[in-house]
Amino acid sequence: MNPLLDFSGLPRFAELKPDHVTPAVDKLLAEGRATIERVLAAPVSWESFVAPLEDANERIGRSWGQVAHLHAVLDSPELREVYNANLPKLTQYWTELGQNQALFEKYKALAAAPEHPTLSTARRRIVDNALRDFRLGGAELPADKKARFAAIQEELAGLGSRFSENLLDATKAFSIVVDESRIRGIPPDVLAAAREAAEKDGKPGWKFTLHAPSYMPVMQYADDRALRQTMYRESVTRASEFGRPEWDNTPLIARIVELRRELARLLGYRNYAEVSLVPKMAESPEQVLAFLEDLARRARPFAEKDVAELREFARRHLGLEPLEAWDIAYASEKLRVSRYAFSEQQVKQYFPEEVAVQGLFRVAETLYGVRNYPASAPAWHEDVRFYEIRDAAGQLVGQFYMDLYARDTKRGGAWMDDAITRRRKGAGVQTPVAYLTCNFSRPVGGRPATFTHDEVLTLFHEFGHGLHHLLTRVDDLGVAGLNGVEWDAVELPSQFMENFCWEWEVLRHLTRHVNTGESLPRELFDKMLAAKNFQSGLAMLRQLEFAVFDMRLHSDFDPASGKTALQLLDEVRSHIAVLHPPAYNRFPNSFSHIFAGGYAAGYYSYKWAEVLSADAYSFFEENGVLNPIAGQRFRDEVLAVGGSRPAAESFRAFRGREPNVEALLRHNGMIAA
Ligand code: ZN
Repeated sequence: MNPLLDFSGLPRFAELKPDHVTPAVDKLLAEGRATIERVLAAPVSWESFVAPLEDANERIGRSWGQVAHLHAVLDSPELREVYNANLPKLTQYWTELGQNQALFEKYKALAAAPEHPTLSTARRRIVDNALRDFRLGGAELPADKKARFAAIQEELAGLGSRFSENLLDATKAFSIVVDESRIRGIPPDVLAAAREAAEKDGKPGWKFTLHAPSYMPVMQYADDRALRQTMYRESVTRASEFGRPEWDNTPLIARIVELRRELARLLGYRNYAEVSLVPKMAESPEQVLAFLEDLARRARPFAEKDVAELREFARRHLGLEPLEAWDIAYASEKLRVSRYAFSEQQVKQYFPEEVAVQGLFRVAETLYGVRNYPASAPAWHEDVRFYEIRDAAGQLVGQFYMDLYARDTKRGGAWMDDAITRRRKGAGVQTPVAYLTCNFSRPVGGRPATFTHDEVLTLFHEFGHGLHHLLTRVDDLGVAGLNGVEWDAVELPSQFMENFCWEWEVLRHLTRHVNTGESLPRELFDKMLAAKNFQSGLAMLRQLEFAVFDMRLHSDFDPASGKTALQLLDEVRSHIAVLHPPAYNRFPNSFSHIFAGGYAAGYYSYKWAEVLSADAYSFFEENGVLNPIAGQRFRDEVLAVGGSRPAAESFRAFRGREPNVEALLRHNGMIAA
């Protein structure tokens, strides 16, 4: 039997072969389409309409999820080939589903049926979400407007991909090869890569480019000020009128903003920001702007202080006066080192893998009254470890795979993904299963792997997403765990967990020097804490500047007014920023998040979720950091309910009030503790 068609338990990774993929996908998609036909003819009720559709779609999701997971963690030419061959079929299926007018009518009928008020909150929310998504997809428009809506979407998709292609082409187009007189200060590993790049071109010297791994270290470390200036100018004018006309993103920006506005108007909204916020926790562009501007006002004095200190340091110790845009990263790095003399390497010795992982488990166990047990399951690689989570009575709650080490066959970064989602099925419950994937360095030479503090933060972060998925008590797939959670609230449980890594009481027990066995010295911890908030005012203002620009561009900015996006950005900077870049800076032309990614009128989400997680954590600061009663409350009101109710409601139920920014400011050293 094809393991991808077996849904009786855990994925059968040991038997799974690339040959299984195409037949499984074809069979499941055919079944999905047959199910859609069948439910369209069935009576309007949860059991005969929504339930069979969820069953069919869950099978597709679970099966393809295994393929996508392997593609991400154990890539091979054979697997990549079947993955790429089948991906368009899946995309096609989900698009068809989202645009199926008859299904939309069916959901509307269910929402109006006598059964509807008797459905659980979770089920009513699933119906509401489905209606919302159909409407935002243009399903309610009359035929002529529907055609225009589709044309706009298509044009926008094309513009988005051209935007990133232009940026990539412009990034690739520049390089500079320098001789030995210009490389002073740059770290050896960066130089080795630069040397190799020059050699590849058959040139002597060192080659630097605008790609981050080359650009960032030059800006941070190169003593050659003119080199930094050249690289800076090239970077901030990418894809602008200063480069090749065919790569200029300026007209694309104008067109994207105009089309998004037209799309919003077709749907009956005033602007695109309102559309973007419909499925999010934030309620209106005005609310988001007030939130961002309040934070900016509070962060500003700290940013001003950061800049004053940096200017003074640069003048006195580096002879840099005036401090230019291309000096900032460089002078900041020198100031950081002069203030906080400790190295990542030194800290790393205190975080052997086993101690960090067990420490993480202990935090989760203390807070949520569960236990993690090592267990076994078919896996895709010998690095993988598998665990079960059980409640106090020994009942199975969920299971997870941990695959922590970097491999050539694994995609970069760290993430949590779902293998199986909780749902009630007849008499029983299908327990959830998660994948936790990281890219840490593996043990070498018989010594245990040691993690940097950043890596420990990452581990806690992903485990936070994992707990959100695993500790859910929702019985319906569509809003269990992370499903249906608003996009600007999804990072709450994950960022929340990071806070524990900055807690002395927790860290003491989470550290053991790999040679001496000692726990982290208090003195070193204090330095880490001080370094954490280095230039936090400046960093926060920079994020706020981007977020305000994004929100205003998609709300109160009128593309027909003759004003350009760049002029809007200047306006935003004039009342938010404390550092003003040179007039030739064309930041919008490389702002892919909002012009080519999914962040349009959504860039604020980073800060929004940070406020929520910091404020949630402050409840623990007030009631005891490892307080199990507070933990239980967080589990009940936030983790367990998943997407079954609005995130704002969950937050209020947990915190007992609306969120506020005090805790975030305090954690950033902007309010006295
Ligand atoms: Zn995350």
